[in-house]
Amino acid sequence: MKKLLLLTILLQGFLFASLRVDTTYSTMGLITQKIGGDLVNVTVLGSSKYDPHFIVPKPSLIAKLRRADLLIMNGGGLELGWLPPLLRAANNAKIQNGAKGLLDMSHYISMIDVPSSVSRAFGDVHAQGNPHFSTDPNQVLVMAEAIKKKLIQLDPENEKIYQENFNVFQKKWQRYLQNFDTKMQMCQGKKVVQYHELYNYFLKRYDIQSIGNIEPLPGISPSSKHTLALIMSMRQNHVKTILQDVYHEQKTAAFIASKTGAKVQIIPHDIRAVKGSDTLENFYNIIGKRICN
Ligand SMILES: [Zn+2]
Repeated sequence: MKKLLLLTILLQGFLFASLRVDTTYSTMGLITQKIGGDLVNVTVLGSSKYDPHFIVPKPSLIAKLRRADLLIMNGGGLELGWLPPLLRAANNAKIQNGAKGLLDMSHYISMIDVPSSVSRAFGDVHAQGNPHFSTDPNQVLVMAEAIKKKLIQLDPENEKIYQENFNVFQKKWQRYLQNFDTKMQMCQGKKVVQYHELYNYFLKRYDIQSIGNIEPLPGISPSSKHTLALIMSMRQNHVKTILQDVYHEQKTAAFIASKTGAKVQIIPHDIRAVKGSDTLENFYNIIGKRICN
């Protein structure tokens, strides 16, 4: 009986897993799974233990890209440091620039912090604006809608199913956001410092002030001059929270905390980056809680 059940499940998986979808990061992977259901086979390329700007490329990623029907990427420059050579090596026409099977999520987002002059020459990794929109739960439905449209475009036969999955998810997420917004109201006006500008969309949405960053520029390691200036500014502004990610060194944050009395909060930049951030709800709940603390 068990064997028969297993065989049925395997067969169903085989029959219905019509689209092989690669996503560069886990948050988009989970959203794709919600909209695609049994009709998609989702692979996440970038592990959340790495800096999303610099995922360590493994040969196995090329094999995954080679098989993909659809690649969903964050865009806005976030994958510039690791994805282009993998895409070239995979040589999969379906997902190349301009192909139907490439979804660049940043095209659907109102990008913030877009610089007036391009400063990547100085090492700024946010030369196209801030690419970290997926840490804001208010962007989830924007991403889900773009994914739904793309899945329907690639697999029009199953339009009804994608649309139904989206409707169910949309209802659930709207309820979640209502609740989340109420909780976040208590933190309006709070001041924080970030290591890297990972939460600007979130902070802007919930009226939380970012007083500065441990990095002098996105992607540039802290200098003692910059750190001392930041400590001064934190004292003046009574900042008591430092938002630290899991992949940068933590010594500078600890030093700043010892000089200002602020608390270091380790928060996730992607699903599963910290313990307990394994679902979309848990991921954003942890971000909210640790920012508000
Ligand atoms: Zn960044």
